[in-house]
Order: sequence, then C-alpha cells, then structure tokens
Amino acid sequence: MPKIWFVGAGPGDPELLTLKAQRLIKQANAILFAGSLVSKAAMTWANECCDIQDSKGMTLEQICDWLINKAKTNATVLRLQTGDPSLYGALIEMIQPLDKAGIDVAVVPGVTSAMASAAVAVETLSLPEVTQTVIFSRVEGRTPMPQGESLEELARHHCTLCLYLSITLLKKIQTALIAAGWAEDATILVVHKASWPGEEQIIRGTLNNIREKCKQAGINSQAMIIASPTLGARNWTELAKSKLYDASFTHRFRKAEKN
Ligand code: SAH
Repeated sequence: MPKIWFVGAGPGDPELLTLKAQRLIKQANAILFAGSLVSKAAMTWANECCDIQDSKGMTLEQICDWLINKAKTNATVLRLQTGDPSLYGALIEMIQPLDKAGIDVAVVPGVTSAMASAAVAVETLSLPEVTQTVIFSRVEGRTPMPQGESLEELARHHCTLCLYLSITLLKKIQTALIAAGWAEDATILVVHKASWPGEEQIIRGTLNNIREKCKQAGINSQAMIIASPTLGARNWTELAKSKLYDASFTHRFRKAEKN
C-alpha cells in the first residue's frame, strides 16, 4: 500500500533529523524536498535510485500531482519539509488533495527552528518566575493575521515570542513591541540558518538596534527572531530556580531534605 510521508527535516544540520526521518530517507523511492530551506546534506542517505526533486519552483497543484503520481508507482514517497511540518508548512493544503485521491499519509515531526535557535544561542525559552509561556507566531506581511493575533496583542503577554518568516519586518516588530510596553533596550535574538554547518549567524541586539545589526550582517532571510524576558539568563546572578531540583521541595520521585 503506497504511503506519502510528510517528514520534518529539522533546521538544517542533518544530525538533527530524527532516526525515523533518516530511516525513511534511506528507504524512500521518491523524495520531494522544500528547496530553499532543507539542507541537501539530509539527502545523502537516500538510495542511489531514489527519485529526488526540489519543489522550489512548483505550485501546490504541481506538488500534489507529483506526490500522487509517485505514490501510484512507489511504495515510499517523502515530502521532506524544513523544521517541523506542522508549522508554516502548508501541510493541510497538501494533504487534502491526497485524501481525495485516497492516498494514505503520515506525518513525522521535526526539530523546529525556534528550538534550534534557542539551542545554538544557549538560551532558555521558559524560566521560573520570568515566563512560562512561548508563542510561535509571525508578523503580518502579505499573509493576514487572524483577529486577536496582531503582534502588539501577543506581545502584551510579555512572554517568549518566537517569530518565523518575519526578518524583513523588523521595523513592525520594533513598533509593536514598544507599543505593548517592551523596553527599547529589551534583548532580541536573531539566528540566521540555525544549525547549518558553517553558515549559522547569531545576532544579539536590542529592540532599538537589532534591525541595523541584521542589516550590517546582511541577514534578510532564513532567520528566527526571539524576543523574551529570559534572554541572556545565563549571565544573571539572581535566578529563581526550578522547584524540580530544589532540595526543599518534595515530589513524586524525591523527598525534600530536612531543614
Ligand atoms: N516548518 C519550519 C518553518 C517554515 S517557515 C520550522 O518548523 O522551522 C520558514 C521560516 O522558518 C523562516 O522564515 C525562518 O523564520 C524559519 N527557519 C527555518 N529554518 C531556519 C533555520 N535553520 N534558522 C533560523 N530560522 C529558520
């Protein structure tokens, strides 16, 4: 029974593929990959006779037709997507025509670029008594934002914001965060090509100067923007520690120490 696998390829470093993704790449008869962002290195495991195609110049219809055609003749067909397929991946648009064609599908999660960016910059996205919430979002550009999800509204929570697809909209980010009460010198992290061997750039700045810094670094695509009251916590002297490892705290697996 043919099946089309929507597989998260992770942020770029092939070692951040899951074991399942690696096994499926090895096993695949046909792979359609999202050209601009999926590292070609991921495909080094593909079989010599695997039919590999870049979807960069293709429309949704062409993508679905390609997948359906391949599924008719091949047992294992992969749609390899950057990061995790469930985030900004046009997943459902691609799956609906396959459902209509009666083709079985499955999704394999991947390491999303927000997590990879936090990791390479050695940052935490949640911190006790600072923020316990992370928002994955984007800034309104050509894609309209649903009601209640303007960046200014989201930023009023003063939690961690991971902004995808927005590096050309830093001006809007500055305006929205300042309108939501963030300080002009609040730390902002931008990571370009997180985890891509030899190509990654980590830029730290403030709401005020991050745009200029990114411009100087020539970053205008493939970048994650993180705004968070947790940024830089590695160097803080006063840190509210997690209860889980607190010696005076009892939980399911450990009794509190006396005194
Ligand atoms: N599904 C992907 C996101 C696709 S949208 C994921 O889970 O990561 C494309 C956006 O993802 C880019 O505009 C950028 O904001 C972000 N992105 C993807 N790969 C990245 C990487 N290696 N480093 C930084 N940002 C990345």
